[in-house]
Order: sequence, then structure tokens, then C-alpha cells
Amino acid sequence: MTIDRALHRPVPPGNTIGILGGGQLGRMLALAAARLGLKTHIYSDEADAPAFQVATTHTHAAYDDGASLCDFAAVCDAITFEFENVPSATIALLGREKPANPNARALEVAQERYAEKTFIAGLGMKTAAFARADDLEEARVALELIGAPAILKSRRLGYDGKGQARVGTLDDLPGAIASLKGAPAILERFVDFAFEASVIAARGGDGSFAAYDPSENLHARHILRRSTVPARLSEVQIREAQGIARTIAELLGYVGVLCVELFVTKDGALLVNEIAPRVHNSGHWTLEACATSQFEQHIRAIAGWPLADPLRHSNAIMENIIGEEARDWLARASCGGALHLYGKSEIRAGRKMGHVTQLSLKSGRHPDG
Ligand code: AMP
Repeated sequence: MTIDRALHRPVPPGNTIGILGGGQLGRMLALAAARLGLKTHIYSDEADAPAFQVATTHTHAAYDDGASLCDFAAVCDAITFEFENVPSATIALLGREKPANPNARALEVAQERYAEKTFIAGLGMKTAAFARADDLEEARVALELIGAPAILKSRRLGYDGKGQARVGTLDDLPGAIASLKGAPAILERFVDFAFEASVIAARGGDGSFAAYDPSENLHARHILRRSTVPARLSEVQIREAQGIARTIAELLGYVGVLCVELFVTKDGALLVNEIAPRVHNSGHWTLEACATSQFEQHIRAIAGWPLADPLRHSNAIMENIIGEEARDWLARASCGGALHLYGKSEIRAGRKMGHVTQLSLKSGRHPDG
């Protein structure tokens, strides 16, 4: 029997929140939990996970190690995760022991691009045209159906542009399919968007809902470079974006913070690109620019606490510090703005090492004019 643990008694201060994943998101979740008087237990398969440095305790074990997971569940009072490649069976298993949110269904939908796009399109929301493309033959049919240019994406385990190939013409297909090394794939029509945006929102176990102002996001080489609030969106578009997040959260019985990534087309339409069932890089600005950050909001939701006010009191520009840029930490530290460094021991190309958020007085205008 599955126990519905979405609605549970609030986890009191002094009790322990378990977090699967030990990267920067787990680290910032642990810091937010500490501010609320909660302890954290990080579970990661990485020996020197950045979140270990700031958590009360940790476990270093594989995400499918049943015995370690059971020991972890036994000492936690509510459990969550910071990355979407946790096996959904792991969340289902933990959920039988303790409240574990977001739930396994939400995770499954977000983990598989075809299931995700089918779910979103089924809600009547707009997406890029898409079709399954598991092999060359299916990819040919898909390309004829949706048209070029297109992007071939692996259905699972893709992030920051990994497992993606651009397809300009039919001739590009064999190379694109080969680059995915047999991984099941989806072909998506390339969207010539005006800009990208995302909306971060939270749903509590009691059905309460709170959405942040959407941010405008700039990517470079598929990695988030900068998030800016306010985005160049009208009030109507802001409400539409927040409504999209609300509908998705409600239909998934979602508890916690989620991010919906959007393409804003030149004629003002909002296309859903993907759902991240977790706190998100494009919401880091909420740490300084809002009454309550996405991290605190997530801890509140999964711990059964009331959601807090997502009110934004400042304009903000959040810039990621990526790879070698981290060597300039001292220069960054003297430039003003709120500096966050993630405590990663090794610099690698494309690795997110930290971020800086610059605030300015709130106005109705996009900070770049
Ligand atoms: P994803 O892994 O799907 O989030 O894609 C990473 C980035 O690639 C997005 O944030 C976009 O900048 C770009 N991208 C992905 N899909 C499309 C698409 N269908 N059309 C245009 N750009 C895309």
C-alpha cells in the first residue's frame, strides 16, 4: 500500500532533513534548513561533496544501496533531493519510510524528456514540436514531421546541453544519432525564441502555492550564464507563467519547489521547455532579492511548514562563476554584490563554481533598460 505522505505533521526544529545529492543546491538547502533550526543529513555518492561541509552529518554511498538508504531514512524526519537523476525507485523506497518529496511520479515525468513533453502537451500547454527518435529511421520520420532545424536530445540524463545535437538537414541525422551512442532520443523543433525565462514556484502538502517573479535567463554553450529579474514580460505573461507552474504542480501532486523553463517567442507565446523538480540555478537570486529564498521555501514545503512570502523587494542580476573563472575569486570578492562560492575542490571546464548576485532598486523595468 502506498502511504500518502504529501501532507504530514510539520517537522519541528531540531529534527533532521535528509537531502539526496551533495552539490551546491544541497549545500544551499542545508544552509537554509540550518537557519530554521533544522539539522541536515546529506546523502551523496561523491566522496567530497560540497554540501558535506555545511551539513550536520552525511552518508557517502550509492543511490541504489538499499541498506545505506534504509539507515538514512531511519535517522531523517523528512527527505528530499537536489538533482533529478536520483533513481525514482529510490524516492519511492524512501517514501515508504518517511515523507519524501517531490514524489516519485513528479521525478519520473521530469526525468524522461518524451514523458515530460507528452505530459505538458496533454495539459494543453505549448511546447516545441517534438517526436520520438530512438533510431535513424524514427529520427527521419520525426524530422519530416516537425521540420528542420531541430535538436536531437537524449531522453534521459541530459543537463547543460549534454546529450544534444543540432540537426540542420536530413544529412546531419546519422552523425547526431551516433553522437548519442544508442541512447533513446527525442527530436525537437528548434525554437527561434526572443529569450528564455523560468518560473520558480512552491506547493505545500496542503495545496498552498507560491510563485516567484519569473527570471529572464541567458545561456552560453547550454550553461546558464545569467538570470535577470524582472524579465521582459508583461503582467499577463507573468501570470501565465505562474499559472503554468501551478497547473503542473497540482496535477503532479507536487510538494516542494519546482522550476519551469520557458522559451518566450517573438510573438510573446510561452513554450514550456522543461520541468526541474527541485530548486534551480535560475532561482539563486531569490536568496538576496526576496523575503524568502527558493531554498527556505523548499525546506518549508517538504518539512510540512507553511509556505512563506515569495515577495521580491529588489531587482537582481545573478551571474554564474563557471570553471576557470573561479580563479578570480578575490577580484569577484571586491566587486560588490553577494558572492557565493560552492566549496568545490576541483575546477573543471563548464563546472558551476559559484555565483554573484547584484541588486538594484526595484522598478518595473528590466535592469538592462
Ligand atoms: P535543455 O537541456 O533542454 O534545457 O536545453 C539546454 C538549452 O539548449 C536551453 O536552455 C536552450 O538554450 C537550448 N535549447 C534546448 N532546446 C531548444 C529548442 N527546442 N530550441 C532552441 N533552443 C533550445
